[in-house]
Amino acid sequence: MIGSSVVLRTRSWIVLCLGGFLGLLTTASPAAFAANCPGHPDALGTSRTLVVDPREHPRIGTMQYRETLPLKDHEVVLTFDDGPLPKYSNQVLQILADECIKATFFIIGQQAKANPEGVRKLVAAGHTVGTHSMDHPLTFDRMPIEKAEAEINGGIAWTSAAMTDPSKLAPFFRIPGLMRAEGVENLLISRGIQVWSADFPADDWRHVSSDRVYQLAIQRLEAKGKGILLLHDIQARTVAALPKIIRDLKARGYRIVHVVPASADQPATPTTPVEWLLHPPTETTPIARWPSVPNFVFTQTGTLPAPALADLNAQTRHQPLLPRRTKALTDVATTLPVPGRDLFAIPEGSIDVLLSTTLSRRAATRLAIAAETPRGPKGKPAKPQGRRTAHAAPAAPKQTRIGQAGSRQAKSAAPRPTHVAGLKKRA
Ligand SMILES: [Zn+2]
Repeated sequence: MIGSSVVLRTRSWIVLCLGGFLGLLTTASPAAFAANCPGHPDALGTSRTLVVDPREHPRIGTMQYRETLPLKDHEVVLTFDDGPLPKYSNQVLQILADECIKATFFIIGQQAKANPEGVRKLVAAGHTVGTHSMDHPLTFDRMPIEKAEAEINGGIAWTSAAMTDPSKLAPFFRIPGLMRAEGVENLLISRGIQVWSADFPADDWRHVSSDRVYQLAIQRLEAKGKGILLLHDIQARTVAALPKIIRDLKARGYRIVHVVPASADQPATPTTPVEWLLHPPTETTPIARWPSVPNFVFTQTGTLPAPALADLNAQTRHQPLLPRRTKALTDVATTLPVPGRDLFAIPEGSIDVLLSTTLSRRAATRLAIAAETPRGPKGKPAKPQGRRTAHAAPAAPKQTRIGQAGSRQAKSAAPRPTHVAGLKKRA
């Protein structure tokens, strides 16, 4: 088993390198990988093997976690849960074999117990095998941790018992129904087991058509551009949808990635932390995070001395720190031209307006109108042209004493101390 595995992995790396070379020459045609699928020249193939260290990235799958597998754009990882169930699992195995695709299977302990041969077939075909609990309870988010641990242990025990070489069991676990709980995750992580969620499901456990499964798989993959697809190898609709999904993946230029756990003789594929994010931030993407404030270490905590006058850049001999007086230039006046005689001349009629600055607005308006009104014979204003000028008074100054003037015209007449009039009026 070990020997054949090494050969398989070596071949994967050769495929990877060859794919890389051809990619440089022919802009990464998926056909390059299919060349290594004997008898199936049109196969999708497996483009590369990704070796992961569960301890470095313990939770993956953007359906629930921040990180996911460090896949490149248009790379897909296929995962199948709940098997093995011979009727459907064998068909899934055959479809994958025909396409030379390597996937990851999450085994239920009860299924391994009932069908250990199914587990051995998966390992023999070179797929990665993780576990999925003993009885698949959908209560991992609320069951006692001891019960969760028993479920985890049962799945591992029966799956590895079904294997010829138990070391083939990958330390990968998918919580049934993705019913995650922090206690369960921490327990798994403390044992070096990687918690696998997914990046998108295809709802193949629901009562939908196989066509719907195919559509959801492709639509959701297209929306994210890459990622871990969650399927079930115990469903007839999945078996029916799988060939179509694979054909479409190839037509759309997607590549299959096989994931294996790191081991002593197989170190993890070198990656950078940012590659474990589905969409790593780029320089053109604004990040909604404030830069963290650095921790300063204050070596001097005592009070600082008061600054000396010299520190303020002042001349100590001329002590007052007041603004300095600037000497006026004595010959400024001589350099300016003498103003013309008419500079201060007030145009005729403007006097009323100038005086009105002390009047009320209404009175000022009247004055201004009166000043502009053309004069009729005998100094009387011409007939008013509009309503607003109906009460306009003659602008000619007439020293009528306020109070004695009986006519309305006199009341609104021009230059007079209006403030007095106002007071009188009010009284
Ligand atoms: Zn399941």
